Amino acid sequence: MITGRNHLGLILCIAFSFMAKLSIAQSSAPNIIIILADDLGYADVGFNGCKDIPTPHIDRIASNGVVFSRGYVSYAVCGPSRAGIMTGRYQDRFGFSKNPLLAPNDPEMGLPLEQQTIAEFLKEQQYVTGAIGKWHLGAYPTLRPNKRGFDFFFGFLSGGHRYLPEELTLQDLSEAKSQFDGYRTKLLRNEKRVEEKEYLTDAFSREAVHFVEENYKTPFFLYLAYNAPHTPLEATGKYLDRFKQIKDEKRRTYAAMISAMDYGVGLLMDKLQSLGIENNTIVFFLSDNGGPIHANASSNAPLRGEKGDFYEGGIHVPFAVQWKGHLPAGTRYDGPVISLDIFATAAALVSAEPRNTLDGVNLLPYLSGEKKGVPHDDLFWRNFAVEKFAVVGPTYKRIDQKDKAAQLFNLKKDISEKIDISSVVNNQSIMSDLENKIKRWSGLLIPPKFLGLLEDQEYSQQHPERWMVKDNK
Ligand code: CA
Repeated sequence: MITGRNHLGLILCIAFSFMAKLSIAQSSAPNIIIILADDLGYADVGFNGCKDIPTPHIDRIASNGVVFSRGYVSYAVCGPSRAGIMTGRYQDRFGFSKNPLLAPNDPEMGLPLEQQTIAEFLKEQQYVTGAIGKWHLGAYPTLRPNKRGFDFFFGFLSGGHRYLPEELTLQDLSEAKSQFDGYRTKLLRNEKRVEEKEYLTDAFSREAVHFVEENYKTPFFLYLAYNAPHTPLEATGKYLDRFKQIKDEKRRTYAAMISAMDYGVGLLMDKLQSLGIENNTIVFFLSDNGGPIHANASSNAPLRGEKGDFYEGGIHVPFAVQWKGHLPAGTRYDGPVISLDIFATAAALVSAEPRNTLDGVNLLPYLSGEKKGVPHDDLFWRNFAVEKFAVVGPTYKRIDQKDKAAQLFNLKKDISEKIDISSVVNNQSIMSDLENKIKRWSGLLIPPKFLGLLEDQEYSQQHPERWMVKDNK
């Protein structure tokens, strides 16, 4: 029953929210861009010291803004890391613990609908929203980008894709019969399959620039999720020719793929400049996880490990943000930050409350110097399948895995995690403190809600209808 008082409250509430929306639409609610690379090594951008692959345009973001020297993602492989970015929450809270399988008939295989995405949130704040590139958060019709808050989508649904347009031979998912057939489908423009003529990375850059041109007069949110430089390693002569000096063929192609992405980032940054909206656009750049050294010849130096690991090489990524006129240019921020902070920062920018409690924090007051200390006391990771956990504090990191001895590293002195100091007598209180923190945090999590990439066969056996997709244009 609505009482008179509640009724009045409701009217006021509606009035205020209308006014709030109006003021955002009229004022300078900044545009928000996330540029996400895929499997890019920590060391493979100029702003982290890369020498053999120039990334002048990605480096512009760093020189115009802030480099996070300790920027993390919430998981060490693609899907769960993206679920974290998209929700601002540790994805194990809602069972997104594994890389989703391509399962276009399965409404459970992807980001649960009750989890509000950053796009759904910003759309409620009158933003125009666009997703370009890799999705990997569900292929069932209700889980696709256009149903998860994005007004516009151009890209593909699976966990990876081929880059050369002549290799996109499947009309749609009704022709897919195996997990990796998803790599060969024609691209989607919203819900329609389209013929693409360009190298995939160039196509995504073109669409990103176009999206900005179309929407720059209203606040917009652009999620530009390149699949570069994820395998398969494929590049065109235009970019390969830049790297004749790199002898290793794998790294040469990897370099060319990064160079294509960098070129596209340049086109996008040029567009912000020419439209005069740089000061009203915050741009985040990061990789979804660390480089898989052997698969794509990436480098995470000086970090230990690679994609899939909870050593720094798996979760500590190239990460920078620019917002001209608002954030100090050409600076570094050394406190631990995480990809989950992007949603929280966006929420602060529009002064609105997301539906779910976020694990990230608003980074802006830390970057401006208004707030001292670090944004997070601790950051956490869980790999459910192997019962592995990690916790990172401002100084120490503990890694636990079932049937293995726990490890402790001092990241301030030893970012390469060379010296395990878990057995040092004086460190025992640090060890138990971090163990208790992991226990408390893991109590917030639930088991995985779906089978993952490593359980492809098992899933197909359990779901004989997996590829019986009729209408998937
Ligand atoms: Ca990835």
